[in-house]
Amino acid sequence: MKRRNEKRGGLFAPGALCALLAALMILCSAKKERETPLPELLPLVPEAWMNGGSARSASAPADSLPSPEAPGETPGGAEAAEGSPEDGVRLGSRFVTVSIEGKPVRMELEDYTVHVTAGEMPVSAEPAALAAQAAAARTFTVRRITGSAKCRSGCDVCTDAGCCQAYKSDEELRALWGEKYEENIEKIRAAVRMTEGLVLTYQGEPISAAYHSSSGERTASALEVFSFAVPYLISVESPEGALAEGGVARFTFAEAEALIKQEMPEAEFDGSHSVTVLGRSESGRATVVSFEGADVSAGTLRRALKLKSTAFTAEVEDGELVFTCTGYGHGVGMSQTGAEAMAAAGADFSEILAHYYPGTELEKLIFGE
Ligand SMILES: [Zn+2]
Repeated sequence: MKRRNEKRGGLFAPGALCALLAALMILCSAKKERETPLPELLPLVPEAWMNGGSARSASAPADSLPSPEAPGETPGGAEAAEGSPEDGVRLGSRFVTVSIEGKPVRMELEDYTVHVTAGEMPVSAEPAALAAQAAAARTFTVRRITGSAKCRSGCDVCTDAGCCQAYKSDEELRALWGEKYEENIEKIRAAVRMTEGLVLTYQGEPISAAYHSSSGERTASALEVFSFAVPYLISVESPEGALAEGGVARFTFAEAEALIKQEMPEAEFDGSHSVTVLGRSESGRATVVSFEGADVSAGTLRRALKLKSTAFTAEVEDGELVFTCTGYGHGVGMSQTGAEAMAAAGADFSEILAHYYPGTELEKLIFGE
């Protein structure tokens, strides 16, 4: 199955190749409950990858250990092999090696994807949203295996959401779901089967499938968050409406000063008890904030104060510092909340993915050397 998205980023300018290469290495998105890490980017843009984002997802490419292969097998989906053998992404094996509590465990990619999807999103989510999440998670995994940004564990992937993607084992899911285990795991499996063997590609290569919990009104571009452009990680509307996450965080100035100092020891404050957002990105997120006379990047503030996102307003109320955040997570790529909203409105998984990763295609994995 091949699907070409309608929107195009058009960002392949000189220098974008480097950015793309860099992007290949990182794919973990920070996630708390729903923010995926872009591990490949972390070494370059450490600030960008703080967590605090979403509660449901995370992903990043990892290192690949030589693993036994299932030679010559092809994906079993009905839509496989629609075109020539080139219409797909070749992968040596249908198995992945996952570092679980420090031990390498081999399992089928599809089975791994089930447990990541269950770790990244609530089972109550719409099937199409779960399916979109499964495709993003599978893509993230394949990128870990084939890309230059490897998992810190030395395995293909690990279960640390700060490095790769969230993962819930059968034991954890049984404890979580109790009597509903069979019903719930079948719902997750069915959603994963909807995208069986499918990965997102851009110009034939698996993409950096960043995702996060909630965007508020718009997603953020890779450029504004990670400082380099990725053609399919551009800012798009996120139709989350009332589902959008966010919240208010309050601090005394003394508390905020101490927390910011931990991230920014060189900062000097004038004691004026003032805060002003000095700049905003194209998606409306804060970029630089003047805090008591010191210019602090919004990313540093988010990390220091554990704010849900940089899409915030900052005010002083009754002598306290008040941040009102919209969204949860870094905001790049697919919003899990937005995916849920789109699915509830009738979108299928391919429409959700086309919206959040414009210009990409869905292609089948072809297994074997
Ligand atoms: Zn990892």
